Amino acid sequence: MPRPTLADVGEFGLLRRLLPTVPSGRGVRLGPGDDCAVIATSAGRLLFTVDALVQGIHFEAGWLTPRQLGRKAFLVNASDIAAMGGRPRWCVANVGAPADTPAEHVIAISRAVAAAAARLGATLVGGNLTRARELSVTVALLGEAPARPITRAGARPGDLLFVTGTLGDAALGVRQLRARSAARGAAVRRFRAPTPRVEIGAHLAHGGLASAMIDVSDGLLQDLGHLCTASGVGAVIELVRVPCSPQVRRTDRLLALTGGEDYELLCAVPARHRRRLQRIAARCHCPMTCIGSVVAQRAGVRVVDEEGRAVAVSAGHDHFLRRRR
Ligand SMILES: [Mg+2]
Repeated sequence: MPRPTLADVGEFGLLRRLLPTVPSGRGVRLGPGDDCAVIATSAGRLLFTVDALVQGIHFEAGWLTPRQLGRKAFLVNASDIAAMGGRPRWCVANVGAPADTPAEHVIAISRAVAAAAARLGATLVGGNLTRARELSVTVALLGEAPARPITRAGARPGDLLFVTGTLGDAALGVRQLRARSAARGAAVRRFRAPTPRVEIGAHLAHGGLASAMIDVSDGLLQDLGHLCTASGVGAVIELVRVPCSPQVRRTDRLLALTGGEDYELLCAVPARHRRRLQRIAARCHCPMTCIGSVVAQRAGVRVVDEEGRAVAVSAGHDHFLRRRR
């Protein structure tokens, strides 16, 4: 019998098999399976995460300048730190590149990682360069953990679900880049330069306001599914309440549910904290929208219209799964 491949089991099928086999160790407060690991050191608790951008997978030639690529490689990692309520601090970067890559491109990537890190209070402290068939940038980032990092587990039935900013723009930007559409603008900018929500994430953790949190990198439904699975709950979200730009609303509203790479935060908040949450969001100049609520696990994750009728949507992104139609 042929051995199952990644295309057979999918990214998340693989993780379900792999994660239970990863051994724990000294100082590990939270191992793999969340946005970051939490590790305890003699100097305090740290968050640790890694992410890669690969040509042909995350971007195509001409979509990102070397500077934009380096910046984005840092920012997507900072978003995972934000999702636990932490502050980005130290990173290392690996650049994989074909030998005919202009040397100045690699220098520009590295400088952009360092500059993006500095803007969020972090420092690039090392890296590696390797020959590869495709251009790729991988960043591993350490962050300072809050006293109580917000994990994906912890949401309870009755909690309200909030998202920051708007969703679907980055996926619309990818569509425009693929179509070589002349209508490039805000959506393509969102794809090129996400805005990790570090400030509001840190405030939510400090105030103990969110019971669970995740960043929306693979599409709202996919990431909400991860939060629900980790918390052992279900969720109901109302399609009209999911915030999206006028452009996404006009083109394809469902992109706000399934499009990836928005790097906004999705959090569950006990209803009694609603007022405090709104005050903190205003202070951080971060729009936060209530899109639904947490329910019992047996109810699953549902999207409903204004009359409460179910809206059928297929879930978000899996890196490996063969598309089934
Ligand atoms: Mg994440």
